[in-house]
Amino acid sequence: MQQAVPDPIRISDHAINQDDLDRHALEVVTTLHENGYDAYLVGGCVRDLLCGEKPKDFDVATDATPEQVKELFRRSRLVGRRFPIAHVRFGRHIIEVSTFRQGQLENVETTDQGLILKDHVYGSIAEDAFRRDFTINALYYDIREHEIIDYVGGLEHIADKQIQFIGVPAERLAEDPVRILRAIRFAAKLDFQLDPTLADLHEDTAERLEEIPGARLFDEFLKLFLSGYGGNVWAELRETPLARSLFPSCNPDNDLVLAAMRNTDQRIADDQPVTPGFLIAVLLWEDFEFRNKRDNEAGKPEIAYEVAMDTLAIQQQHISVPRRFSIFAREVWQLQSRLEERNPRFIKRTLGHKRFRAAFDFLVLRADYDNSLKSKAIWWEEIQELDDQAQEKLISELPKKGGRRRNNRRKPRSNDFNQY
Ligand code: ATP
Ligand code: MG
Repeated sequence: MQQAVPDPIRISDHAINQDDLDRHALEVVTTLHENGYDAYLVGGCVRDLLCGEKPKDFDVATDATPEQVKELFRRSRLVGRRFPIAHVRFGRHIIEVSTFRQGQLENVETTDQGLILKDHVYGSIAEDAFRRDFTINALYYDIREHEIIDYVGGLEHIADKQIQFIGVPAERLAEDPVRILRAIRFAAKLDFQLDPTLADLHEDTAERLEEIPGARLFDEFLKLFLSGYGGNVWAELRETPLARSLFPSCNPDNDLVLAAMRNTDQRIADDQPVTPGFLIAVLLWEDFEFRNKRDNEAGKPEIAYEVAMDTLAIQQQHISVPRRFSIFAREVWQLQSRLEERNPRFIKRTLGHKRFRAAFDFLVLRADYDNSLKSKAIWWEEIQELDDQAQEKLISELPKKGGRRRNNRRKPRSNDFNQY
């Protein structure tokens, strides 16, 4: 691909202030230098500093192999099956140290479709630059010379606010379709432009995403929607077939989802806690509700638990959602009928449920799109604020529910006992 590697541009007149560099990353680079290796800051940290953003993490690229890095740093370990890299730990903080990758794809193990399975052969900084995904992500910072090294035109694209693949987009997406999700994420985060012709590749890329392990997609899901700009990511993603390959049973036109994403961004901005479980609940709510209603109308006993498990099982085939988050989603769904029915017998128990707060937030969100829920949301908001006695009074004013037996009553089944 890059037989004759051009000389890079080296720039010392740039916006990066030495004081903004992470001291642990500097320590890693300096230690590598002291031991005779070449090493640079690279990737998102250089990009974000040039864009005036605070980097999420600092990555290092070096000519030392992962094993050599591991030997130098006591608190380090090797991770990654496709690309082994070293994680150097400083308390809760991790610096990712990757070894320059080689440029010849012949040495890389791929599927017949070109998906990279394994790449354990190393190369030069120039080769490494061309293996990165986007030009804006392939800038190296040399801490000795205070210089930015650019092989691929990344500086120009940062100035133009453009996200450009290195090489031919169709080929780079065949190697790794997750790159399209990264592109959309960076565009949303930095307010950069994506090449509009990439849209022609979305159908193919959506199909290729089906081959990506669900655990990797869950990591990407977190970055997409829990980094503080998930609303903009979803606004873009839902217009493409890519949304369906991540969440096949989510209706992309459902504005509740976009509202929840924006709400999450606001919570992050306000330093309030957020959980992926809530977003999973929102993304799959329509599917859960649809199945629940369908079963009821068909005269089958409503077993919200089982319906929830079906909805979640379909999602699991695409993104591996850790159990604690799928349980969270199920509990939020199951509490919705409690909140809607307001059966006096269950009010106190519902208020004391560990998912009450999340379920209430969800009801409030739904009430924005369903007028029939508004007065109920207000009622639950009110009752939370009251003392015990005032709560009892409010509950006593509710119409009694005892008389009518719900048609969804059913005989207990033997396997019901472990469900809650
Ligand atoms: P952020 O950390 O803010 O999400 P980042 O660009 O640093 O953004 P990382 O996942 O930390 O993203 O990766 C570090 C660098 O590794 C990237 O900047 C890019 O150069 C390279 N990289 C990461 N993932 C890929 C990929 N799928 N294909 C090619 N290069 C990649
Ligand atoms: Mg990074």
